[in-house]
Amino acid sequence: MIAPNTYITTTIPYVNARPHIGFALEIVQADVLARFARLRGDRVRLQAGTDDNSLKNVLAAQAAGEDVRKFVDRNAEAFLALGPALSLTVDDVIRTSRDARHRAGVERFWQACAASGDLYRKRYEGLYCTGCEQFYSPAELRAGRCPEHDSEPALVAEENWFFRLSRYAEALREAISGGQLRIEPAGRRNEVLAFIDGGLEDFSASRPAERAGGWGIAVPGDPGQVIYVWFDALCNYVTALGYGNGGDAYQRWWSGDGRRIQLLGKGVLRFHAVYWPAMLLSSGQPLPTDIFVHDYLTAGGRKISKSSGSGADPVALAGQYGADAVRWWLLREVPRVGDADFTVERMIARADGELANGLGNLVNRVIAMIHRYRDGRVPVPATTPVTTPAPVPADGDDLAAACLEARGLIGAALEEFDFRRATAAVWAIADEANRFINRVRPWELARAERGGGGQRLDNVLAALFEACSALGRELAPFLPDAAARITRQCTPRDGRLPQASPVFRRLSR
Ligand SMILES: [Zn+2]
Repeated sequence: MIAPNTYITTTIPYVNARPHIGFALEIVQADVLARFARLRGDRVRLQAGTDDNSLKNVLAAQAAGEDVRKFVDRNAEAFLALGPALSLTVDDVIRTSRDARHRAGVERFWQACAASGDLYRKRYEGLYCTGCEQFYSPAELRAGRCPEHDSEPALVAEENWFFRLSRYAEALREAISGGQLRIEPAGRRNEVLAFIDGGLEDFSASRPAERAGGWGIAVPGDPGQVIYVWFDALCNYVTALGYGNGGDAYQRWWSGDGRRIQLLGKGVLRFHAVYWPAMLLSSGQPLPTDIFVHDYLTAGGRKISKSSGSGADPVALAGQYGADAVRWWLLREVPRVGDADFTVERMIARADGELANGLGNLVNRVIAMIHRYRDGRVPVPATTPVTTPAPVPADGDDLAAACLEARGLIGAALEEFDFRRATAAVWAIADEANRFINRVRPWELARAERGGGGQRLDNVLAALFEACSALGRELAPFLPDAAARITRQCTPRDGRLPQASPVFRRLSR
């Protein structure tokens, strides 16, 4: 059987500032899905990128008194630094201003929509928020201000190219309610359907080149206009695959049979679940198969903005506390639905409680006991029930079950993009193993066996060793670094395990 293809994308952030913890959430979630799919045997491509063509970047560079190119390049570097800092397995990064494949793809995309009769020129007047790069109707504003930025939009009047979104309402509704385009969680799917039912208006798909400061991609055949940054940015999911020149990657990852999974935050839902699929239909391409929408993080109770300071800088956090702690907090504490509040104290408490004291301590104890009682050699469990020195009441059955069930539970949870439930299945192994140790008290078995026997201690140690090995395997998509350390602890050399050494360091003093 040919391995199924799984293409996973994150949104491409503006690079008007350094990345924050909210974007780290999305890319860590994507990395977990990619790692799990690879373990399952899928062929996987995890795609990320940066949105360089935004007017926001131009304004931020001007405010900082810097050359736009240098400014964008420096911030884009900071986003790339997330990869090693958080142990991400990103397969490819597209930079929309620098990669020739992007421009070629956007131009081809534009021409395909034009050929479908979906692009036309119209004079337009509207309220525009540069923060959002979006026109707002007066009804969408909150007391006359942008609902995202709480800033007053500018009145803009100009002649632009429009995309005929109105034509696609029925097709979108069908794709979404029929499950061809799956949107999770369900609340977000309903939100999108309600938006479509409210009536879709054509959207402005270009800007005068002058207002964009010459930054961006010119409309093919109309150099006085640049393509709207959202139209441009959304295309990255296929331009990264060489859509512009009909590359093999495009065939494999987008127009073939596989899954096309897109992760995004709730603030850009409409662009990804309405505009983008309509653009794909117009240009004659398949839709994504899955859209997963995460909510927002706050930091210390405050909305995170890219300028909110170093307290929520994921690269700095990973540098100080390690990728494991940052990833574990993001995966264990952030609910599938609803916002979550990040603080360094919560991250440390979670890491020390579950990683250092829970998982780490368990592995350390088990390896140390195998050294103390069996000279570092992993005992072989008895294949027949042991009746001496006393009947054993199903020793370790619950533990073996937790190990066996974990993979299935993790898979089911990740299929619903429920990272908390997935990590709970891993944690259940450690929890069950610690309970097992407290119940059977291996040190008492060791004292008892001096009088002979010892098969029961062999069984107990073998069950615990299997639990540690299972932790190394099942933890791998979530905490790849820690999983590798655990697996190293569980790999004998010349028949003996390495000496026990701490898998996690305690973060609090
Ligand atoms: Zn705004």
